[in-house]
Amino acid sequence: MGITLIINLVVSWYENREGEKLKSTILVADARHTRSDVYVSIAVILGFIAIQMGFSIVDPIIAVIIAVLIAKMGIQIIKSSSSILLDTAPLDEETIRSIVSKVPEVKECHRIRSRGPPSHIFVDLHVTLESSSSLSKAYEVAHIVEDKLKSSIPEIEDVVVHVEGESDNF
Ligand SMILES: [Zn+2]
Repeated sequence: MGITLIINLVVSWYENREGEKLKSTILVADARHTRSDVYVSIAVILGFIAIQMGFSIVDPIIAVIIAVLIAKMGIQIIKSSSSILLDTAPLDEETIRSIVSKVPEVKECHRIRSRGPPSHIFVDLHVTLESSSSLSKAYEVAHIVEDKLKSSIPEIEDVVVHVEGESDNF
């Protein structure tokens, strides 16, 4: 039990650190799961000591505490993963707007949306150009916007840019 506890402490710390670094929901979730194993190990060791000392009532109490710990950890994991599944925007509109507005040809941008997990973000947005812009210019600007977003935020997987002229904003 003691060895398991030490191994789990190290695994949990490492998983959490790498999970944060790689922005991996699964790694962070499993780090929490491993940490719950640590608490369970501590509870079992304490329970074992108590039973050895003759307090047999401690056994069912520890079992309940373990169940509560596991449930609590499960709820935490569901909460953090469900925000991704429920399509909560991983990037806020202003962050995207401030990057896109640095492209000189872009007059304005709207309908900014982002979705997906923090490590694989999908962005779509409308950008307005001067009405006189040619089709080839529009394609060029769409690519510049896409490249600029991807290079500023490496977690962005793909960008869909809808280009429109100043007069036909919709
Ligand atoms: Zn539009």
